[in-house]
Amino acid sequence: MPELPEVETIRRTLAEHVTDLKIEEIKLIWAAAVHGWEDKKFEDLVTGRRIKTIDRRGKYLMILLEDDLTLIAHMRMTGHLNYYADHQEPEKHTHVVFRLERGEVHFSDVRKFGRIQAIPTPLCFSESSLRKLGPEPLEDEFTPAVLKKRFGKKKVFLKAALLDQTVLAGMGNIYVDEALFLAGLSPDRRVDTLSEQEISKLHQAIQNVLQAGIDARGTSYRDYRDANGEKGSFQEALQVYGRGGKPCQVCGQVLERKRLAGRGTVYCSRCQR
Ligand SMILES: [Zn+2]
Repeated sequence: MPELPEVETIRRTLAEHVTDLKIEEIKLIWAAAVHGWEDKKFEDLVTGRRIKTIDRRGKYLMILLEDDLTLIAHMRMTGHLNYYADHQEPEKHTHVVFRLERGEVHFSDVRKFGRIQAIPTPLCFSESSLRKLGPEPLEDEFTPAVLKKRFGKKKVFLKAALLDQTVLAGMGNIYVDEALFLAGLSPDRRVDTLSEQEISKLHQAIQNVLQAGIDARGTSYRDYRDANGEKGSFQEALQVYGRGGKPCQVCGQVLERKRLAGRGTVYCSRCQR
């Protein structure tokens, strides 16, 4: 699933092509992928509007259109947004085609969990999935004290707390496992047992791993591609994710694999305490 670095890379690659362009036509191939607003159909709301900017909040892409309408896109497992400079026939899993005054954007999704919602811009943060999200981990306001506050008095495992988008927005299985390795913290540590120093180390690790992911233009472990259809390269830098049973690159001990918070989790029981 695209996480913060992948969605940020999609945002940047898409924005380069589509900013200031008008959406001339919407072709809905699988209509359930989109949601209109109140009694208005998605295609009626969106057609004819110009794209102003593209933002991101957590794992959500926000496509701001003129006249106060925003499209909130969530890729879920396998969603893709691809820009094509020339006309392109929809592929098997293409659900929506946005024909722009120059080029096309295709929304495709093999697993069909991804969604695009049209919503009046002033209501974005009160009436959509964005309202419950925790802080943005790469913004200046996110400090070790904020992280400590977000954990509060929860008695849950670190792995579960960091996957929880209401605690912190943007991380999924890949970057949580990598951040915990970098911080030297075991994924099954309970958050209420962390010292101030451990919280600081975790905060730094989260920022480092997400920034490194963005710098590498995302992780193409399975099928992730940016809006140009290009792979990222952070999969080459992964220390633990996808490496269960292989030796730890720091101490050489075999990396362990177990299920935590319902997700496959890889860690080093020697380096992570
Ligand atoms: Zn190790």
